Amino acid sequence: MLFQGKSLSAELLENGIVEFKFDAEGSVNKFDQATFQDYKAAISAINQCKEAKGVLVTSGKSNFIVGADITEFIETFKLPEEKLIPWIKDGSDVFDAFEDLNMPTIAAINGFALGGGCEMTLACDYRIADTTCSIGLPEVKLGLMPGFGGTVRLPRLIGADNAVEWMSTGRAHKPEQALAVGVLDAVVAPENLREAALNMLNDAIANKLDWRSKRQPKLEALKLSPVESVMTFSTCKGMIAANAGKHYPAPMVMVNTIETAAGLDRAGAMACENKGFAKLAKTDAATAQIGLFLADQVVKGKAKKAGKQATKVVNKAAVLGAGIMGGGIAYQSAYKGTPIIMKDINDAALDLGLTTAAGILTKLADRGRITAKKMAGVLNNITPTLSYDSVKDVDIVVEAVVENPKIKASVLAEVENNVSEDTILTSNTSTISIDLLAQSIKRKDKFCGMHFFNPVHKMPLVEVIRGKDTSDETIAAVVAYAAKMGKSPIVVNDCPGFYINRVLFPYFAGFSQLVLEGADFTAVDKVMEKQFGWPMGPAYLLDVVGIDTADHCTGVMSDGFPTRMGKLENDPVSALYNAKRFGQKNGTGFYDYGKDKRGKPTKLAAQAAYDLISVEHKAFESEEIIARLMIPMVNEVVRCLEEGVVDTAAEADMGLIYGLGFPPFRGGPIRYLETLGLDKFIAMADKYAHLGEIYQVTDGLREMAKSGKSYFT
Ligand code: NAD
Repeated sequence: MLFQGKSLSAELLENGIVEFKFDAEGSVNKFDQATFQDYKAAISAINQCKEAKGVLVTSGKSNFIVGADITEFIETFKLPEEKLIPWIKDGSDVFDAFEDLNMPTIAAINGFALGGGCEMTLACDYRIADTTCSIGLPEVKLGLMPGFGGTVRLPRLIGADNAVEWMSTGRAHKPEQALAVGVLDAVVAPENLREAALNMLNDAIANKLDWRSKRQPKLEALKLSPVESVMTFSTCKGMIAANAGKHYPAPMVMVNTIETAAGLDRAGAMACENKGFAKLAKTDAATAQIGLFLADQVVKGKAKKAGKQATKVVNKAAVLGAGIMGGGIAYQSAYKGTPIIMKDINDAALDLGLTTAAGILTKLADRGRITAKKMAGVLNNITPTLSYDSVKDVDIVVEAVVENPKIKASVLAEVENNVSEDTILTSNTSTISIDLLAQSIKRKDKFCGMHFFNPVHKMPLVEVIRGKDTSDETIAAVVAYAAKMGKSPIVVNDCPGFYINRVLFPYFAGFSQLVLEGADFTAVDKVMEKQFGWPMGPAYLLDVVGIDTADHCTGVMSDGFPTRMGKLENDPVSALYNAKRFGQKNGTGFYDYGKDKRGKPTKLAAQAAYDLISVEHKAFESEEIIARLMIPMVNEVVRCLEEGVVDTAAEADMGLIYGLGFPPFRGGPIRYLETLGLDKFIAMADKYAHLGEIYQVTDGLREMAKSGKSYFT
């Protein structure tokens, strides 16, 4: 053994071949500080070994290397840029030292080779993968770019245009795609990987393969004429400007870096990469996107834990109500492999539920995403019924009938009498208290809320709402079922609006107040979409949610929190509701919805809406618009954390990202608060405190600011 570390080893095999094996103790293979120490030591051991003639890089795990350990690096990113650059250079120098070994090198790739893992293979002369391989550079998804030579080596291997495509999308590629573009030299069956790699390496050692000329382009300037260079980079930049937009700086910094480095040799190009990486590591977008990645791990980790703890496994489900939500829930459960009974009181509703599911499946089939066999299987997994007979042996019931407390109470009591003692009951109510609904149920410990979002097949969030009597076993089983359905469950405590609507409605209240002061709702939408980054501004979102639903929810929130969320006088939402302008569902709300001559959907600000709001127009600065809407939302998120409605800042952030499409580059409401700075936020909120309680920050937040604490620790 030439070197044995905790993350990797270097062993001299026969014929001068050194096996460089990544096999981290008790973990997946990843680049963390400990691995870097081993990596350096192993290279030095190979350099000192006179018998060494070639290096075979392998993994002792089912994946090659999954990437860099972002949890470790995030602390270092706090260093000032001038200190960060040498730190990054230290890392990339090790990859250069590997590339400079005076012998041929080959990576035998199995499973994931992502980020730093992919860059490890790029530092080799040859790359051979088996059919399980998934390879790519996903750093942009964290607001970063490759930092271990990826921006230097990949363009020199496969051309700048292909490399930019790989790095700006951050997509993982199947081996055949990687082979076609030239990232891989060969793809073989898993059982042949080692032998094929050894054969190739032996050929290189015997000079049957010219490894030196294979390596050389990676050490030189990019081979592009000035004209080609202008063409390539201007096309790439145009594509990125259109796709990523100004809120996501990483892809553009990456292209600029490659362009600046195009005429330089490896050392010069690496210096550009080190600088570009450091610049990105310091951006708010990177902090937010890395935070998001970590928050997602928290949510996934909790769901996984629940799956292990759940004493009841959901193998068969039932949904009551085959409407918009019931139909969607049935589809999603069936699609993810849990058969479901769909019960309604109305034959036509059952037909509609099935037709909706079939419609989603047909779209998937048209795009080649599923086979006819899978489509039939999913539909077979949904059993429509008008009677309780077939519901008897299900593990879970999701009630999704009309939003009426009396009807829900009687339906829940009825179904409880028709299922077994240990069947879990849940309700998809959006506004009715779980504790109130529990009053009509005998086995209160087996009941909780399971709040899906519309459209169910697209929206990732499920709020699992714990009532005061709900047992931990019930929560664990429901969380596990939601995860099995491919959703991201977040457990919240029962309160008016639960978590998502509770924080959304103060935001809408901020909007309504602003409109009543004369703000043009289209101007507010524009600022919140283009500048803040929401997928829809508040007026458009209210139209999509439904003005009737929103008006009803405003009433619920007002009853729940009368001093803070009391109904506004002349509330624009109520004005539209009273005029039967229900939003997108009936084509009229803040906007009029229709179709143009070519049948494309149109959305035009409605004069009727202006007439109903009937206030004199006044212009507001973008900064004020953002403050007036976001302060109430962030304040309410803080209250939810303080009251334990939601457990952690990570879940609070992920909830709004998954449930409302909070701009991901801002990382969620708490990340937004911390990026802004607690003191600055408080000063901003204090300026508007006279407008009402929704603008008044809690003592807890002031305390956090004073003590310099973070919600994430
Ligand atoms: P919907 O009106 O589209 O469907 C309700 C269905 O329930 C109808 O098909 C009706 O026939 C059926 N139904 C009525 N009484 C029944 C009974 N006794 N037994 C079985 N079926 C019965 O309503 P929806 O939009 O699907 O909403 C359903 C629930 O989901 C509501 O509680 C709503 O608040 C909640 N929700 C709706 C949305 C949304 O955006 N639509 C989002 C989240 C949650």
